[in-house]
Amino acid sequence: MAGSSQERSLREELTCAICCELFSEPVMLDCMHHYCRGCIVRYWDSCARGPSCPQCRRSCPGRAFRTHYLLAGLVDKVRRCGSREHRHRMQKHLEDALQARQKELEKLLQRKRVVQEDICSLTKVSGELNFKIRAEFARLHQILEEEERAVLAGLGEQEEQALAQLHRQVGQLEEGMAVLQRDIEHVRQTLSKMEDVSLLEVESLDIRPSVSVETQPALDLQHYRDSHSGPLQYIFWRQMLRSICPAPAPLTFDPESAHPNLVLSRDLTAVTERDRAQRVPASPRRFRQCVNVLGSQAFDRGQHYWEVWVGSKTKWDLGVAAEAVDRAAKVRLCPENGYWTLRLRNRAEYWASASPWVRLAPRRPPRKVGVFLDCQEGTVAFFDAGDMSHLFTFHQVSAERYCPFFSTCFSDGRDNGEPMRLCHLAL
Ligand SMILES: [Zn+2]
Ligand SMILES: [Zn+2]
Repeated sequence: MAGSSQERSLREELTCAICCELFSEPVMLDCMHHYCRGCIVRYWDSCARGPSCPQCRRSCPGRAFRTHYLLAGLVDKVRRCGSREHRHRMQKHLEDALQARQKELEKLLQRKRVVQEDICSLTKVSGELNFKIRAEFARLHQILEEEERAVLAGLGEQEEQALAQLHRQVGQLEEGMAVLQRDIEHVRQTLSKMEDVSLLEVESLDIRPSVSVETQPALDLQHYRDSHSGPLQYIFWRQMLRSICPAPAPLTFDPESAHPNLVLSRDLTAVTERDRAQRVPASPRRFRQCVNVLGSQAFDRGQHYWEVWVGSKTKWDLGVAAEAVDRAAKVRLCPENGYWTLRLRNRAEYWASASPWVRLAPRRPPRKVGVFLDCQEGTVAFFDAGDMSHLFTFHQVSAERYCPFFSTCFSDGRDNGEPMRLCHLAL
């Protein structure tokens, strides 16, 4: 090892030429050679001649030497480093450092693995979403193409009818013309014979009245053109909208489920909370504790989407409830109790009523909330129906049948008195 060979050469440099050990109390002679103090003194004592350097033989009058403190310190350090205890400590220290780094490495590896898994998952999910989006667009293209074919077929049919009528007119006119031609010929012949025959004969000549061809109403080309013009993209888009699935469902409130304090509009699309209970028929389907109401429509399969106007209400709950929820008891709105809802509290706090609640931060206060129920996937998703921005999605939603769920919350005088409305797509 480079380290140990360097150490070896350093030890050689610090070794006394007399005792061949590391210097002990090193001293320097005038000739710049170093020895242990004891060694050089003993050497000189044993020497018959005057004191000199054992290496270069230069004489050292008066046994002069200088104590070399710097060298002494260096020797001390090398000696200490060479000790077994020190080696042991160093080894332990290095082993600990190694172990700590290995652990750190393992941790980073683990984190890298997690991130790599995320990369795989993200790619996979993106692929699935890509596939799904393409399928939806393919369906839209198909609807659009079907719509185009239907519109063009309608145009073709009208053109064909008009053409048939025009051709019929041409036929009739040609027929009339042929009759007239024959008549003209006949009259001409008669005219040419005028000189040869007596007027008596002419009198008796059969001149038939002229033919009359029935007049057909003129083709109104302008009307034909106008009836196939206009805001065509909008017209086709509206026709196309009928084929879109799911489109906003025209829900109504179920009066039998409504809490006695809730007043429904005649068309069952608006609900308001009043501070006094109304007399209503008793029903096991009625909410008795909270000012809740369900939609009349229950779902057990497929995808469904509806929109609820909340306007500037200051409090509300809405979403989906299992049809089997306990309507007599006062229960917490949470998935465990069969409710997947969003709520507004204190005018501006939007929450998903998951366990625990999840605070939402919509880009702006939604005035119309879209609810999307996918029975197959087991999801309930919420959107700001103004711009269709996503608000929250519940997963692992499970029930035999699902009902749209609404709670106006208390009106608090007029503060939260605005009705909640079911939006119907007006087309
Ligand atoms: Zn020595
Ligand atoms: Zn010397």
